[in-house]
Amino acid sequence: MKLLIANGHLIDPAAPENTGMSVLIEDGRVSGWLRPNEKPPEGCETFDASGLLVAPGFIDMHVHLREPGQEHKETIASGCAAAVAGGWTSVCPMPNTQPVNDNAAITRYMIEQAERAGSANVFPVGAITKSSDGSELAEMGEMKAAGAVAVSDDGRPVPSAGIMRRAMQYAKDFDLPVVDHCEDKSLSTGGVMHEGKVSLLLGLKGMPALAEELDVVRDILLAHETGAHIHIAHVSTKGAIEAVRRAKNESISVTCEVTPHHFTLIDKAVEGYDTNTKMAPPLRSEEHLEAVLEALKDGTIDAIATDHAPHHQDEKALEYDRAPFGITGLETAVGLALNELVHKGVIDLARLVELCSTNPARIFRLKDRGTLKPGSIADVTIIDPELSWTYRNSDSRSKSRNSPFDGWQFQGKVVTVVVAGQLVFQNTAA
Ligand SMILES: [Zn+2]
Repeated sequence: MKLLIANGHLIDPAAPENTGMSVLIEDGRVSGWLRPNEKPPEGCETFDASGLLVAPGFIDMHVHLREPGQEHKETIASGCAAAVAGGWTSVCPMPNTQPVNDNAAITRYMIEQAERAGSANVFPVGAITKSSDGSELAEMGEMKAAGAVAVSDDGRPVPSAGIMRRAMQYAKDFDLPVVDHCEDKSLSTGGVMHEGKVSLLLGLKGMPALAEELDVVRDILLAHETGAHIHIAHVSTKGAIEAVRRAKNESISVTCEVTPHHFTLIDKAVEGYDTNTKMAPPLRSEEHLEAVLEALKDGTIDAIATDHAPHHQDEKALEYDRAPFGITGLETAVGLALNELVHKGVIDLARLVELCSTNPARIFRLKDRGTLKPGSIADVTIIDPELSWTYRNSDSRSKSRNSPFDGWQFQGKVVTVVVAGQLVFQNTAA
């Protein structure tokens, strides 16, 4: 089966010139690029991408799909449906399922469920420690053999520097990046939002920026000593970003990601006590958001990841102190990145593709992804940069509705998504 994505504006770090270029796909892989006057081969199905942006498939390095164990919030099938609707051809689910993904059987199960769903690719992240309880190392080699692309105790940061040091040595042996949720719980426990002027005003207990920064600094030192690759999850503070920038300058193997909500919202959003503004790390103050934008601009931040964290309506309907942390994000991420970063001139489209596709593929060593150069796997994200639309929680493909962006308007929408040469999503209503 042959598919030609014709006359789009190709955005790919490997593209020499890109307007009006057509991408030819055969048997799930990109087989070539055609210039505007080149004739396509016979028997080709053609998708007209005139006026559209054609990018290598976006890869979300950080999602929570809740299966196994909490299928009332999300399943792998519903999460993957939300992913492709948001432009993500691949998602990397964190291991905090029930039971925790700390062994090859669960890793394999997640991949099989994704294959059954037949939309987005799923590349699971295995646990660092058994049950993510911070004590005994999980079987990283077996999880890697089953398809895990990294390890993390996301949501339950490893408290012991000694265990983390051994985990990094072990992960390095298996060439697995360590995805690091940095939060010193001795500083943040009980906190429900960023510690600062707004938390004082609202009478809510704060989580200081320092809780994140202490762990970032600790783990950068450990990465330096062990030679492991650490990937800082959802970086959100000025001090954490400065530590990553310094470490990169010293050639320490560290990368980091930011969520759309951390480059869009600040802690003032909590003022209405909407529990869809409660997440960990919390929405920070203006100076931290400024630091995030600067780091997106200068390359310190490597990736945009959603931290898509579905929760049932009844759980989020609790009072602010008691509601769970986390928001959905798969379907609003690209709209937010276009609105807040591209249209405001923080980054250009080439950098957006680097943040959402090329770098995630490189960091998680996803072979033949993150590019559309001939020979690569034909995962493609196609965006209409002019299309204006409104996000509605009620339209979401996710099983959960906990987004603070209900009713937000966006300019630029993912209109078509191809996974391994197959059309898996097509926008129907504008
Ligand atoms: Zn986390």
